[in-house]
Amino acid sequence: MSNTSGKHWGVDIGGTTTILGYLTNDVFKTVSTLQTIPSEGPEKLLTRIWRIISNIDDSPGSIGAGIAGLVDRKNGILIRSPNLSGWVQFPLQKRLIKIFRCPVTIDNDSNTFAIRAIDSGEISSDGLSLLITLGTGIGGTIIHNGTILYGTGHAGEFGHMTVDVSGETCPCGSRGCWERYAAGEALVRYFKRTENDSKIADPGEIAKLAEAGNENALKAFDELGEWVGVGLANLSHCLSPSEIFLAGGLVKSFSLFIEHARHEFNRRCPYEWNVSALSSCSDAGAEGAAIMGRALSL
Ligand SMILES: [Zn+2]
Repeated sequence: MSNTSGKHWGVDIGGTTTILGYLTNDVFKTVSTLQTIPSEGPEKLLTRIWRIISNIDDSPGSIGAGIAGLVDRKNGILIRSPNLSGWVQFPLQKRLIKIFRCPVTIDNDSNTFAIRAIDSGEISSDGLSLLITLGTGIGGTIIHNGTILYGTGHAGEFGHMTVDVSGETCPCGSRGCWERYAAGEALVRYFKRTENDSKIADPGEIAKLAEAGNENALKAFDELGEWVGVGLANLSHCLSPSEIFLAGGLVKSFSLFIEHARHEFNRRCPYEWNVSALSSCSDAGAEGAAIMGRALSL
């Protein structure tokens, strides 16, 4: 074991993969990408994370963790996550402190992603901006003058604003939530409505078909775009942001749905359309988590 203490570690725990790395001289180095395996439960994942970190650093300076789910930052608890079923009320911060004996902070993964984008200057530190992650579900962050707004703790859960009062049920317990219409799972549902024999269950495969001119795949993206526009119009009415950034897995297919989103937005609100895709790398959430952890020791 080498003693290179003081590294600021970042962990990004997603429903499919977990990314680990650390900051050294302001440069983030990705160390490992693990399968999350939600069915194994959080303790087994923490053991695997411990093996990797302790092999490199026997005295971490700090750990920041971003996690895909509803997070109680104040008490360091993952309340629940649609992508990590069974991980309910898990005291992630306390467990990490016990394992690594260093300062630990946790947050929602959209917020750690935003922290990195603010740090790099991609999101302006003037005015009010929104970051919206379109993946399996929808996450969000409100940024005002370079600071994340939390409200009483959970501001930015845009994916669970109701867009259809009697609509699709949502794992959050409500129904008609925006993420049931404008995220990856919805895209698959739209596609299967016309291609019901298809075994395709991945938005990336539908994007490939759309790019090749498949009409049903293109229609599925049109419908997705309309719902994206509905939500963006609602958010603009409520918050009047100067910029809206889209990120997450679906943004690779930005050009396939954004014109429909813009059309729907313009039908529903008179404000200027200022929506763009945020370019990022897959370890941006882990880097943001490391920056968040490092701030504990500043
Ligand atoms: Zn919901």
